[in-house]
Amino acid sequence: MHEILDVIVIGGGQSGLACGYYLRRHKLNFLILDKEEKCGGAWLHAWDSLTLFSPAEHSSLPGWLMPKSKNLFPLKQEVIDYLCQYEKRYELPIERSVTVENITSENKIFKVHTTKGIYFSKAIIAATGTWNNPFIPKIKGIETFKGIQIHSAHYKNAEQFKNLNVLVVGEGNSGAQIVAEVSKVTTVKWSTRKPPQYLPDEVDGFYLFNVATAKYNAEKEGKPFNAANYDLGNIVMVPPVKEARLRGVLISSGSFESMYENCVIWSDGTKEDFDAIIWCTGFGYATSFLKNIVSADERGIVKTEESKATEISGLWLAGYGSWTGYASATLIGINRNAKQTCNEIKEYLQQI
Ligand SMILES: Cc1cc2nc3c(=O)[nH]c(=O)nc-3n(C[C@H](O)[C@H](O)[C@H](O)COP(=O)(O)OP(=O)(O)OC[C@H]3O[C@@H](n4cnc5c(N)ncnc54)[C@H](O)[C@@H]3O)c2cc1C
Repeated sequence: MHEILDVIVIGGGQSGLACGYYLRRHKLNFLILDKEEKCGGAWLHAWDSLTLFSPAEHSSLPGWLMPKSKNLFPLKQEVIDYLCQYEKRYELPIERSVTVENITSENKIFKVHTTKGIYFSKAIIAATGTWNNPFIPKIKGIETFKGIQIHSAHYKNAEQFKNLNVLVVGEGNSGAQIVAEVSKVTTVKWSTRKPPQYLPDEVDGFYLFNVATAKYNAEKEGKPFNAANYDLGNIVMVPPVKEARLRGVLISSGSFESMYENCVIWSDGTKEDFDAIIWCTGFGYATSFLKNIVSADERGIVKTEESKATEISGLWLAGYGSWTGYASATLIGINRNAKQTCNEIKEYLQQI
């Protein structure tokens, strides 16, 4: 006989851990499955110099504050250390090096098919983030390009780009930060579809979280939202981006229509040679393992009411950003999302 758990959480990054915290408080019988060998989720793969957007005191999971950092914004390794200590502190049951390939459902029991066998549960939380689903646009001629091409998901540092002609593509935070770093060792052009938009210098991740919270509360109460209307997707002026602005390297060359062997063809028809392209063009959601139980759009978005799937009972999705709960893809924002998700699950388990 196989054990039937109350809940299986898929993904042991920050979102999976926050859910684990609340499942434990509810005294539910649960297990977290994670494909990585080590703790840290997507932070394990971030580039070497990546830091948080907010100070440590505003970047905490439920229950335990992130320890203060010597740096204004904690370093990638400090985030990994925090996540590793967090799961130990709360003795969260995690099995690593387990990839969930597929889920099926029968008589309100989920059968979770993994690289290490089959697990059973009454409810599922998908918390698999985005890192496993990098997006590169289908540009005409992309397959003919002979130079180096990497996605920001796999960028580590500027070392491999020394003395190369580099093109960075994408107008978000990754694009701006990678232009800032690579332009210190070589010549870089920056391709963006629209002019890059920056947040004011004093706006950090914590400020953005408060704006998102105020917006959410206003919408819930049917009130107009009048706070300073910052686009939450605009570039945050972290110290390396401020420094690059001073050096005058944050200049967009516009967009290109097609690519060929060693070059891109800009929208005005001119050609320019590049040795390497770094695609900072974002991510879809890593939800393909849900394909047998729910439908998803081309980006991996599943229909939900906040984090609860609407096509099947017993499935929740946490930490994927605004469609599963405002600011839920951040350390500070996952708290509310995880708490509500686990409260709903507790209620669901009492009813079935
Ligand atoms: C430039 C940049 C700056 C950022 N700055 C901040 C910031 O300042 N503050 C902040 O809070 N966030 C920040 N983020 C976002 C943050 O890195 C991610 O949103 C966060 O890691 C999401 O956490 P998660 O737990 O939902 O997903 P992840 O960290 O990706 O964890 C998901 C886990 O699920 C596992 N997994 C995936 N698929 C499967 C499967 N099929 N089976 C088993 N396991 C699976 C993965 O291996 C991974 O361990 C930033 C991101 C970028 C790109």
